[in-house]
Formats: sequence, C-alpha cells, structure tokens
Amino acid sequence: MSSHITAPRGTQDILPPTSARWLALEARIHDLARRFGYGEIRTPIFESTDLFIRGVGETTDIVEKEMYTFLDKGERSITLRPEFTAPVMRAALEHKLLAQGPQRWYYVGPIFRYERPQKGRYRQAHQFGVECTGHAGPEADFEVISLAWELVRSHGIADAVLNINTIGDDACRPRYREALLAHFRPHADALSADSQRRLEKNPLRILDSKDDRDRPFVESAPTFESILCDACREHFAALRAYLDAANIPYVVNPKIVRGLDYYSRTVFEIISGVLGAQSTVCGGGRYDGLVASLGGPATPAVGFALGIERFLMMLEALHGESVAPRAGVQAVALGAQARGVLVPLATELRRMLAQPVFMDYEDRKLLAHLKIADRNGARFALILGSDELAAGEIVLRDLEERSDRRIPLGRAGDLAAALGEERS
Ligand code: ATP
Ligand code: MG
Repeated sequence: MSSHITAPRGTQDILPPTSARWLALEARIHDLARRFGYGEIRTPIFESTDLFIRGVGETTDIVEKEMYTFLDKGERSITLRPEFTAPVMRAALEHKLLAQGPQRWYYVGPIFRYERPQKGRYRQAHQFGVECTGHAGPEADFEVISLAWELVRSHGIADAVLNINTIGDDACRPRYREALLAHFRPHADALSADSQRRLEKNPLRILDSKDDRDRPFVESAPTFESILCDACREHFAALRAYLDAANIPYVVNPKIVRGLDYYSRTVFEIISGVLGAQSTVCGGGRYDGLVASLGGPATPAVGFALGIERFLMMLEALHGESVAPRAGVQAVALGAQARGVLVPLATELRRMLAQPVFMDYEDRKLLAHLKIADRNGARFALILGSDELAAGEIVLRDLEERSDRRIPLGRAGDLAAALGEERS
C-alpha cells in the first residue's frame, strides 16, 4: 500500500467551516486598521537571509535556531519570513517612504519558524501586525496599543491582560545591562545553556527565559525602575496616563522584555490564561534603532504582532464554536427537465441575492437534496419537479419554519422578494 503524503509537521489545513472564522477575523482586522488610519502592506514571503540577521538580531531565538534558510538555484541565501517588521522596514527604505513623514502600515499573513510544534506553536503561523513610524512621543505607543486592545475588547475577551514595561534607551540601558551582569554572573554555571551563551552578549534576554533553571535568578533580578533615565521615565508615565484616560486596563510587568534585540523604551504583551503554555497572543513595542541598523535614517517606530491562531484559540475557548445561523438557498431540481430550467435561474439569483445559492446536479430524491441543504446550512430550498413545471410554479420551502410557498416560475425578482431581498 502506498503511503499518503501529509502536510509538513507544524502546518495546518484550514477548511470550511473553520476558514469562515478566519475570514470573519480578517474582515474585522481590515476594518479596524482602516478606522485607525493604517494602510495594508504586503511583502514577499521570502527575503535575503541578511535582512533578518541584521533586522531581528543575532541573539534572538528566531535567528539562532528558528529560520527556514536555504540556497536558491542562484546560490543566494534565502529565508522564509519569520516575522514582518524587518521586511516592512526594508520595503519602507527601498521605496523611500520614511522621507515622506510619519507612516502607518498593517499586515496580515503567514510567518515561518522552525519550532517544536505544540498547541499554539506552529512552523507556519499567521500574524496581524502594525508599524507606525516617525513619531517618537508616547502618543504613537498609545495608538498602537489601543489598536491591539480594541481587537481584543471588541471580541469580548475578558481574560486577556495587557502587560506593559519599559526597557530604557541608549542613555540608561547600558547601566541596566551592567546591573544585570553583576546579578547573573555569580550564578552563570547554574543558568540554562541559552542564558549562559547570552549572558555577555545580551543579558536582558535572560529575563525573557522560560527555562526553569533560570527562574529563581530571573525572579530576584534588579528591575529597570531604579535605573531608568528621566526621559524614559517621563515617556512611560505619559503612556500610562493615556491608557488610564482611555480606560484601557494594564499591569506593569518588569519581566516583559520581548525576544527581539531592537526594542527600546515601551514593550508590551497581551496575555491570556486560556492559551496554556503559549500564553502570549500579542507582543510589541518601540524600536527606534531598527531602521538605522538596516542602513536607513534614524527613525522612531512602534508596532506589534498578534498571532491569528492563538487569537482564534482564545475566541473558541471563551465563546465555543458558535453555530452560524442558517443562510442561503438550496436549488433543488428533480429530473433533467427541471434542471435545464433551474440552472440558469440559480445563476440569475446569484447575481441578485446577497445570500449564497447552492445547487447539486445529480439525480437524487428530494430527501437526499434536503440533506445536502442541511450540510450547506441553507435556510431555504427552492424545489422544482415535473408537477411544478407543469403548473408554471416553483416551491420555496423555509427549512427553519417548515413552511412552503408557491411562486410563479420565471420571475427571479419575485423570488428575491420572497427570500427577503429586494431587487436591486
Ligand atoms: P513565544 O514567546 O510564544 O515564542 P515570540 O516572542 O516568539 O512568542 P513574536 O515574535 O513576538 O512571538 O510574535 C508575536 C506573536 O505571534 C506571538 O505572541 C504569537 O501569538 C504569534 N506567534 C509567534 N510564533 C508563533 C508560532 N510558532 N506559532 C503560532 N503563533 C506564533
Ligand atoms: Mg518564539
């Protein structure tokens, strides 16, 4: 027996009716981004490997172990996009958009990371995110956070918690780095292998560790609070004041540092208890140094990325798999002659109606057709048999209320009206 080819590990097929939930979320995302004045950006799914090494950071999980990197036939090193921020900034520089003043973009699409697949963690995942460039002040941090929060709030996700923190800037982070080094160095031998490797390069990353060996030392690490410079302290206080004024609840969590090297000042995550170990659904912050590290002009920027799979898991956990209301019309032709009349009529109705029109073309009994209508979730059946043909009528059956109406055949407009949709 030949074995079936299956989807690669860590990837998923998204089938109906689940795909309808994706579509609904994406529609909400496009609408929300538009309301906030963000325009959609679409970048290639693959990029030069160098972009991610320079733009994500060499001490990150992504660059150290998660990238899908290969040589193409021209011997170029190519990487499947593991995140969007570096590609978006690459595009902004390439098209000289940053010189035109502040910019606002959003994106929705797949990312690829070589991870150990588990609940909420895949090798192909999907993200919605935004990037706002050109504003150094706390208003932009607030705008971006409130956009992410609005998506959560408008879905009634009560258990999600906004965690915010500040990780300082070039003026104060070096001092914090020294304080962390002094704290971790005496315990270096007890830390996880990852943390030992990161200790000298980027000790902030140790705070982000989920390894049990690191936990006691992370718990007792000094917080940034005592070391922040005045400018960073004011920026953070202003952000908190905006959040308070907007009634957006949050907790200040000094352990939030984000995995990527390029963050400065504001960092934030939205965390939900229903997600289990993969509890972060959205992460973001300010990254004023990124554009310059890609060779562009110094440009303040702030953004976030939100995991679509984890967001949908959250919705499902909180609201269950909601049953969609019955909608649409099943066109049922009993016999070849009726089919010859109903096929063109169905086409006319599809032009006219907003609701879907389903039709099956095989010779079946009425009951079999009605079973198909159930599977399609149709509200109505439009039934045409030889008796109806002879009478010049068609039966419109309401499958929910179990009632029949006879409608003159041939006038699609009458049908549209009977189906609750006026002719346009
Ligand atoms: P984690 O700590 O869970 O690995 P991360 O810090 O690597 O997350 P980001 O790079 O900040 O994640 O990506 C933002 C969001 O994208 C995450 O909060 C998550 O919702 C989603 N995400 C990231 N990687 C994956 C993945 N492999 N599978 C599913 N969703 C993911
Ligand atoms: Mg990760």
